[in-house]
Amino acid sequence: MQAYESQQTVVRFAPSPSGRMHAGNIASALITWLFARLSSGKVILRIEDLDRSRSKQEHIEGILRDFEKLGLTWDEGPYYQSSNQEAYVEAFAELSESAHVYPCFCTRADLAAARAPHEGEYAIYPGTCRHLSSEEILEAEKKKQPSYRIEVPKDTIAFDDILQGSQSFSLDTQCGDAILKRSDGGFSYQLAVSVDDAQQGITLVSRGYDLLPSTPLQIHLQRLLGYEAPNYAHIPLLVSEEGIRLSKRNKDASIDEMLVAYRTYEGVIGHVAHLYGLIANDEPVSPDDMVGLLDIDTLKASLWQRGRIVWKP
Ligand code: GLU
Repeated sequence: MQAYESQQTVVRFAPSPSGRMHAGNIASALITWLFARLSSGKVILRIEDLDRSRSKQEHIEGILRDFEKLGLTWDEGPYYQSSNQEAYVEAFAELSESAHVYPCFCTRADLAAARAPHEGEYAIYPGTCRHLSSEEILEAEKKKQPSYRIEVPKDTIAFDDILQGSQSFSLDTQCGDAILKRSDGGFSYQLAVSVDDAQQGITLVSRGYDLLPSTPLQIHLQRLLGYEAPNYAHIPLLVSEEGIRLSKRNKDASIDEMLVAYRTYEGVIGHVAHLYGLIANDEPVSPDDMVGLLDIDTLKASLWQRGRIVWKP
């Protein structure tokens, strides 16, 4: 699992184009970018547009423009999940051969499975449809298109997170049977991201702390598909005073409001970097400048085992 030390670091930005950026996405992208730049690595940009109803062209353009203006450059891409369907079809077929993949007629969480499950969105599937008979399946199919789930074994998945330390999850009690394919025929976030990270040669998955519970499942899927698992770094999550993950509702954390408050893109980067303890003063700074101010060990030490950081405008 420690590929990180021995080969070029390849990270990814994986935005879901459902809106403009906010301080939380900016922090996560900045730290991901620093992981690559502080180790002569590279950044791949992947647009996670599996959820066609929420992915809008204007959001994609907005995100690309913001990354560029913020100085968060990338070396490869953008790749689009919507253009990688063939690979997901193949992976789905392969998983159906090597594991128990079954039709599920329960509605909750099905269509939402196109999106990464963030805080408060993890639900362990109770296994209702796990052992339906062929008659029951035929009957249920008359009323509803099923989604498809994979039964997970009673295994423990352990890994060392570069920022959060050693982790251990029980697949069946902490992850549960995951949706691979939704009832509308689209693939799930969990399947797509496991395939993409492997195919795109990602060696370090650096992303928000709230996605930590998805990691054991992604490692499991990658093993079944014969891929080498990447390393992981789960970045402290930016939360409100009440401890809730920032979202579009936190207006003062939106990039537009931050540009008003901090005047420039460098002012925005400086504020976020300061909140995360990466620079001493809340002053404008570009990501390029930060490369000269930090090294990888200082970056890791500043973020080590911190799950949440409270947002302050
Ligand atoms: N596209 C996801 C998001 O924007 C990130 C998923 C990931 O990094 O694995 O929330």
